Amino acid sequence: MKAYISPFHDHHWTGNALVRGRLQPHHDAQGRGAQVEAALQDLQLQCVYVSPGSVMMPELHQVHAEDYLHYLQTAAAEWSQRADASFEVRPNIWPNRYFPEMKGSLPVAKAGYYLGDGASPVVADTWKHVHSGAETAVSGAQAMLDGEREVYVLSRPSGHHAMRDMAMGGSFIANAALAVERLRSRFARVAVLDIDVHHGNGTQQLFYDRDDVLTISIHGDPDVIFPFICGYADEVGVGAGEGFNLNIPIAAGSEIAQYRPQFERALQRIADFHPEALIIAAGYDTFRGDPFGNLCLDTVDYSVLGASLAQLNLPTLFIQEGGYVIDALRANTRSLLSGFLDKRP
Ligand SMILES: [Zn+2]
Repeated sequence: MKAYISPFHDHHWTGNALVRGRLQPHHDAQGRGAQVEAALQDLQLQCVYVSPGSVMMPELHQVHAEDYLHYLQTAAAEWSQRADASFEVRPNIWPNRYFPEMKGSLPVAKAGYYLGDGASPVVADTWKHVHSGAETAVSGAQAMLDGEREVYVLSRPSGHHAMRDMAMGGSFIANAALAVERLRSRFARVAVLDIDVHHGNGTQQLFYDRDDVLTISIHGDPDVIFPFICGYADEVGVGAGEGFNLNIPIAAGSEIAQYRPQFERALQRIADFHPEALIIAAGYDTFRGDPFGNLCLDTVDYSVLGASLAQLNLPTLFIQEGGYVIDALRANTRSLLSGFLDKRP
């Protein structure tokens, strides 16, 4: 197993997040990346640090709108020109059901249009980091095309909340979706299984009308945790994609005994789809006590999940998502991957 790693994976660079009405330092904190990296080294994976600017990725433009990509690259500089501007680009009004269109040209109007919530501010280094994350994900996918059977991608921030033209949940670029598109250049069908405790709303949106990409998200019930407004079981896809999106909300407080049957249900759906490759959106915020989750998996449980994933016997690309108990990230990553590596056929 190889690991592809962004050289910026453990920098301190994020802004604030609005949590329960309070602005606080963003939970995608420095230290998370280092803990995961340590786990990859514990397992003696061959680690490849992806040089910025070294990767061609037409997938970036397939997945995201041009105006949005331009915005991410220019927003911080434009914002900083305003008198008394904060260090982070942060909206104070959003398009809504009465005014759904983007109107107005001021930075604050554009911020409301492109930055979908209070956890997704743009700061000076945002583009540098999210672009590197995209390069890392695409490099990992390319390694699979070049013959690797399993790869882990480590970058920050997460990507699974990012929409086609809107940041959300601290995600800006849909890393897993870019990897899907790279894999699709060779493989007819690709499945994405999102095991982060939060619904993978961006991945869902980006493939919602397609039957060549199966998207499954198993997550804490959105009636209780973020993103609140999507992630429900009745979101099944549209058009050709109907039946190719599966959301599995899990009741708050669930432990592995309640979680695992639902996880096995997801794996059965993947097996029935007969994909040629699998992407795991790997979040560890299902861990007991995670400040942003509400499920109760323990470290040992991740090795059980990893072993089940191995039984699918598919080329498998893991892409880093959430997990906010920093002290547990090393052990949890190691548990998932060692369970997987021990049981691969
Ligand atoms: Zn999460």
